[in-house]
Amino acid sequence: MQYQEFTDLGHGITCIDTMQHRAGLAACYLIEHQGHAALIDTGHSLCTPRILALLEQKGIALKDVDYVMPTHVHLDHAGGAGNLMQALPNAKLIMHPRGARHMADPSKLIAGATAVYGAEGLKQQFGEILATDAERIISIEDGDSFSLAGRQLEIRDTPGHAKHHYAVWDAVSRGWFTGDTFGISYRETDATACGSTQQHYLIPTSTPVQFDPEAWNNTIDMLMSYKPERMFLTHFGMVEDVASLSIELKRKLHEYVLLTRRHGLAENAHTLLKGALKQLHTDDLARLGAQLSAEQVEQIYAVDLELNTQGLLFWLEHAA
Ligand SMILES: [Zn+2]
Repeated sequence: MQYQEFTDLGHGITCIDTMQHRAGLAACYLIEHQGHAALIDTGHSLCTPRILALLEQKGIALKDVDYVMPTHVHLDHAGGAGNLMQALPNAKLIMHPRGARHMADPSKLIAGATAVYGAEGLKQQFGEILATDAERIISIEDGDSFSLAGRQLEIRDTPGHAKHHYAVWDAVSRGWFTGDTFGISYRETDATACGSTQQHYLIPTSTPVQFDPEAWNNTIDMLMSYKPERMFLTHFGMVEDVASLSIELKRKLHEYVLLTRRHGLAENAHTLLKGALKQLHTDDLARLGAQLSAEQVEQIYAVDLELNTQGLLFWLEHAA
């Protein structure tokens, strides 16, 4: 599928490209049902005007957006939540209990992100991070369900990428909005783009600091137990070959763990492990017949390989 700024995926679902860093890297989703709407993930705050433009284009009144549902508090998913909530007078902000307080008081999020990007870099890349009134935040429990004009959106706890992560099950599309719990799959590695024999290619997201491979395996089993027909990934878009991708994701999680144990205690662990991850994906793609050079693979996953390496080393040191 060719994605644009807004891509209609059927079942009242629109994929919104948040344009973070580049096109095709991060998405959020609009679900419309009988004149009402929900947003799943928000992108960073710089994306808010784009989301509001889509609502206007579709004739959805701001007051008819019932829910804003960031799958977890990482900034590419929840950074724009405060901003959006100011624009949407009736919306409730649906949060994992471990994330809710960071939306009411984002000072810890801001401090953490400032440490990584610097104050100026944070503002440039992610815009401003605003607080949401605590009384507009609903802290979920596993299995909670929210009605969007009668269309049930079921929330499940999905640890593995982060402990503050949930996913949203939509029975109408038989799809999961997976946030980061079904890995990353960019269109550049699709069969149609690079000649691979596999429709989509997918890599894990072992971002710091709560990566947990065992919990993640259980989460994948839980997701698959619903017999989904499609997954809506934040990075990036809809995938429908879910059975084979779930096996691929588990295999890669296992390989990530093995590589981390092999390289993680070396003096230059970061360099070795990052190189090994890059090699793993380069070899994988070559085996599938993808016409991508090592440099292209590195370019596609530049940010991800760095974050994945950091997350794996943190896991080895603190939790493995
Ligand atoms: Zn993400």
